[in-house]
Amino acid sequence: TIDIQDTLSELTHLLNRLVGERVQLEFEHATGNHMIRADKRQLEQVVMNLVVNARDAMPKGGIVKIRTEALDLVKPLKRDRAEVPPGSYVSIKVIDQGTGIPRDKLQKIFEPFFTTKRTGEGTGLGLSTAYGIVKQTGGFIFADSVVGKGSSFTLILPTQPVVE
Ligand code: ADP
Ligand code: MG
Repeated sequence: TIDIQDTLSELTHLLNRLVGERVQLEFEHATGNHMIRADKRQLEQVVMNLVVNARDAMPKGGIVKIRTEALDLVKPLKRDRAEVPPGSYVSIKVIDQGTGIPRDKLQKIFEPFFTTKRTGEGTGLGLSTAYGIVKQTGGFIFADSVVGKGSSFTLILPTQPVVE
């Protein structure tokens, strides 16, 4: 069981190094239960992959927001042919102001080896790895994007009930 906010706090320094000087990271943590059952290293890997992609999408720099909040679903949430059952979750969003992803590509980004980057700059494995890890924790990952405006990636991970 890990606290997602603690995990992100510990990762802040590394993430800032990853994005470099031109990209500013902004964290927004809402209150609520942020305890989840997950492999900490793997979850860190997921966040790093999303942040590196956000950086790569903003060659001129900009702001990347990392937003966490508790999410209590009373009704199933249907998205992208997936259905998140009702329950308690934490959502982690990584929001960039980058190039965006055209609709035809948006359907392929979670496939292994799909990349639009040049040889040596991307393997196309970041998002498929993230997808696999998120599924393993019983969670979901969704992408939203507007070309020319930016993209946001949303992780929805089931929380661990707090035992008093
Ligand atoms: P890689 O980063 O090695 O190319 P990923 O699996 O991480 O592989 O991403 C696959 C592709 O999805 C990228 O090549 C890019 O085209 C697109 N993509 C992912 N994240 C973003 C983003 N934040 N903004 C724009 N495009 C993105
Ligand atoms: Mg990547």
